[in-house]
Amino acid sequence: MLQLIHYPHPTLRITSKPLARVDDSLRDLIEQMFEIMYEHRGVGLAANQVNLPLRLFIANPTGEKDSGEELVFLNPVIQKASGTIEADEGCLSLPGLHGTVKRNKTVQVNAYSMDGKEINLKVDGFLARIIQHEIDHLDGVLFIDRMFDQGAILADEIARFEARFDKQREEGQIPDDSKLDQQRQTWLDKYCR
Ligand SMILES: [Zn+2]
Repeated sequence: MLQLIHYPHPTLRITSKPLARVDDSLRDLIEQMFEIMYEHRGVGLAANQVNLPLRLFIANPTGEKDSGEELVFLNPVIQKASGTIEADEGCLSLPGLHGTVKRNKTVQVNAYSMDGKEINLKVDGFLARIIQHEIDHLDGVLFIDRMFDQGAILADEIARFEARFDKQREEGQIPDDSKLDQQRQTWLDKYCR
């Protein structure tokens, strides 16, 4: 069973590897990701937020299980981006934290669907923001890296997440780095070769 991981879990800082194949168990993993995303009231979720080192993310801008469209992007790449716009963002990897992030207004994204079709989308608005936030995740970048003006409050919040992570690790709820490396390597061997 997949589980949401929180900052500063090391898998949130890796660069995800492109998928070389798709199979039924990947479909099952993606279904689990949608369940987790809806359960936590998210609108997008990158694979490394559930400890998978794979280059894929899911999204549903409505955040509701039975409305909108469930989008899956495999091996996404932003090919063009233009304009800038600021808006409030949050992240399931740092629950409760919000802040203003500057993003491109419009992006052109290339990716593949689960059935191997190439996707070329030009989007703006909320979905463009989601896509940039999720592709950042796949490159090991978090929205807090892009929040510059929240100084002391942000530092406090981040320290709280770090203290919680250290405690969970001491209690054995989170494996050590070499065990995490091993877990990730197993996924890479299965999907990225
Ligand atoms: Zn996020």
